[in-house]
Amino acid sequence: MPDPRQSGEKQAVVIGGGISGLACAYRLQQRGMPFTLLEASDKPGGLIGTVEEDGFLFESGPQSFQGSESLLQLVRELGIESELRKADPRAPRYVLRNGKLLKIPMSPQAILGTSLLGLGSRWKVASEPFRKTQPPSEEESVAKFVRRKFGHEILEYLVSPFVSGVYAGDPEKLSLRAAFPTLEEWERAYGSVLRGAMKSRSAQPKERKSAGAPPLCSFQHGVSTLAQSIAAKLGDRVVLGAHVEALRPCDPGGGITQIQFTQNGRSDTLVANAVVLATPAPAAAHLVASVAPLLTRKLAGIAYAPVAVVGLGYYSEQIGQPIDGFGVLIPRAEDIRTLGIVWNSSLFEGRAGEGRVAITGIIGGATDPDVVNESDQAIACIVQLDCERVLKITGAPIASCVWKHPKALPQYNLGHGHVVKAIREGERATPGLFFAGNYLSGPSIGKCIEEGFATAESAAAYLQGGAAGHV
Ligand SMILES: Cc1cc2nc3c(=O)[nH]c(=O)nc-3n(C[C@H](O)[C@H](O)[C@H](O)COP(=O)(O)OP(=O)(O)OC[C@H]3O[C@@H](n4cnc5c(N)ncnc54)[C@H](O)[C@@H]3O)c2cc1C
Repeated sequence: MPDPRQSGEKQAVVIGGGISGLACAYRLQQRGMPFTLLEASDKPGGLIGTVEEDGFLFESGPQSFQGSESLLQLVRELGIESELRKADPRAPRYVLRNGKLLKIPMSPQAILGTSLLGLGSRWKVASEPFRKTQPPSEEESVAKFVRRKFGHEILEYLVSPFVSGVYAGDPEKLSLRAAFPTLEEWERAYGSVLRGAMKSRSAQPKERKSAGAPPLCSFQHGVSTLAQSIAAKLGDRVVLGAHVEALRPCDPGGGITQIQFTQNGRSDTLVANAVVLATPAPAAAHLVASVAPLLTRKLAGIAYAPVAVVGLGYYSEQIGQPIDGFGVLIPRAEDIRTLGIVWNSSLFEGRAGEGRVAITGIIGGATDPDVVNESDQAIACIVQLDCERVLKITGAPIASCVWKHPKALPQYNLGHGHVVKAIREGERATPGLFFAGNYLSGPSIGKCIEEGFATAESAAAYLQGGAAGHV
């Protein structure tokens, strides 16, 4: 890459090749912007990782993604539509209650008829549209909001397990405004979240309404196909094994930054007019110390929940419980350590081979952070015993893999909105510095891609002479 101080050509460097950084670099490429992506590990994708072993296909991170219209458009652009696999949209999800698997009600009508909840809770749902309320002036936790609107049972058996599934979070700490902003908006606008949901649905165009919720998707060879296909499009602009150590402003106020990195034990530098930090927040906190020191504390203060992922393979006849859906979420009151079990081979073909099943247990999270300090063997053992109990499994697994993510998911805890606002202000105050990542506008793959695209548009506009900061 030429030195912009000599060539006059403006260029961007994206740091971090998870899905956020890949999406950002892809959009920069589409905009015709010269760029380089530096990724510390030896593969693109970050938390995304598919492992194929002995005929089993396991995911070490995200198990699937929601096929939103923008994500499906990207899949078409990448030419990997034929590899896309959509799960059956009717596949049920379950919650464990008193040791039994009960279907999660997916509509207000289904909530009224579910045996998962007592009569009192069902009445609270039915009457919610008629009990108009307003959000309190101070920021509210998810737990406080749900207790106030729907009561403890709905928190315990529906919302907390769901929060574990998305954020591996603690609902007592998670901010409603930051994690589920539409719920607060609906309460403010209509006095009722169910009324808000109905209004928002009726405002949708007819085609969107009949299409229903975006399907859960993966690829024939797993979620990694998405990251690998983007990286393939970026070609030799992706530099793997390049760990960025520090950023140095070259000409104060001029917006040119020197990026110091090591690759294969050798130190090297790049110079860029725009730097996109697409790393997790702790790494970004370290890197901004010399260019935007005020942001270091904000970024370092974002809490992360640790998670361990255990892939298990069995012969079908070992499973005593029908597994005909997405999987099961396990409320903390059930006294089982595993947070949830995904039934991979029920969702997508080609995960286990004939007569076999692949399942994945997720354990840890903000309410049980210490489990990732256990050995792989100990973690596999805990999850295996939990799966045996929940799914009535007999005999040992024929395949078992463990992956630990000490900083798996950023926590959108109380105050998170102020942190994101400060990061945006810091971006505007530091010409040429941009952020992307799962701690900004949502942790899902779809949100990371949208955030990566938006950051690329801001960086491209800046390089073309526009204003600093996120558009
Ligand atoms: C167990 C688990 C299950 C999940 N399940 C789902 C799911 O089912 N569906 C869904 O939509 N989402 C899911 N998610 C969330 C989603 O996978 C992540 O939020 C998303 O992949 C994060 O992407 P990212 O690019 O922002 O960050 P990351 O994937 O963390 O990527 C950051 C990259 O930056 C690199 N990096 C860090 N420091 C440096 C440095 N100094 N120099 C160079 N490179 C550096 C890292 O090596 C890494 O590759 C799950 C997450 C986890 C952990």
